[in-house]
Amino acid sequence: MSRLITRQEIAEAAEGAYTMARVDNGGHNAHYIPYLANVPSDLFALTVTLPDGEVFSFGDDAYLFGIESVSKVATAILAMKQWSPEMVLRKIGADATGLPFSSIFSILLENDHPSTPLVNAGAISTCSMVKPLGNPVGKWKAIVDNMVSLFGSEPSLIDELYRSESDTNYNNRSMTWLLKKHDRLYDDPMMSLDLYTRQCSLGVTCRQLSAMAATIANGGVNPLTGERAFPEEISPKIISMMASVGFYQHTGDWMFSSGLPAKTGVGGGIVGVLPGLLGIAAFSPRLDQAGNSVRAQAAIKQFMQTLGLGIYNSTQVELA
Ligand code: GLN
Repeated sequence: MSRLITRQEIAEAAEGAYTMARVDNGGHNAHYIPYLANVPSDLFALTVTLPDGEVFSFGDDAYLFGIESVSKVATAILAMKQWSPEMVLRKIGADATGLPFSSIFSILLENDHPSTPLVNAGAISTCSMVKPLGNPVGKWKAIVDNMVSLFGSEPSLIDELYRSESDTNYNNRSMTWLLKKHDRLYDDPMMSLDLYTRQCSLGVTCRQLSAMAATIANGGVNPLTGERAFPEEISPKIISMMASVGFYQHTGDWMFSSGLPAKTGVGGGIVGVLPGLLGIAAFSPRLDQAGNSVRAQAAIKQFMQTLGLGIYNSTQVELA
């Protein structure tokens, strides 16, 4: 079974979802990273990008916010590109943790296995895998260049956020040494942690995140630049990781209610991927208890429901 959907329907659903979610004032800015606590809470943006590069965008879509955990998606793609999806599975894993993003138990419970690149432990491990090994300048360049190919434009480091995170990341430091103890770091521990902290501190726009989502939906070709960012075989692998752990301990609830593989960050960003159809991103700083943006979740769910979309649906949806 299949059905067609028009661009106008997509544009109207996005605008309607943006308007509906804008009045939701639930949640609070992330408070454990001082910089994030002070970002204006009312900012809100929603951007949909189609595989041919058409963009529907609303609100504060040019505001630079901390990418935070959404960076884990980009660097997981990089590790799969540099090594292979199978090597990432072997060295890190692709399991749901069912636990908060900062959980140390995710290392202990998975039999010394970080379990997935999309939670903190696995993301620090992923940064340790990035080549050229032993070369922090070269590794940082590889991380940023990969993001440029996914976004179609440069992210820019928010220095104050980087300092703020580096000064307060005690939990991540302890996880890094635990990973080292269990032989799950493939480069210098503190260098790997610093790369992770720096990538989380990159400033991005909602438009850029939506372009990354559309690149994944499009099998690795960036719809804005027309260039291939990664081999097509990586798309289903990263989408499966997003679907299994993108919302941490609330991933099951999220997939049940939205039908959209997605990944969140405590900067307030969410990216979602509908394979073959579109990429979506939303941004708003107020978060729920698990660290997921309240308005971004509301807007994306509304968008999916209005259009009757979802990866588990039996009817295939194509662009008219
Ligand atoms: N940099 C943040 C941290 O390590 C990212 C967390 C997140 O976005 N969920 O805690």
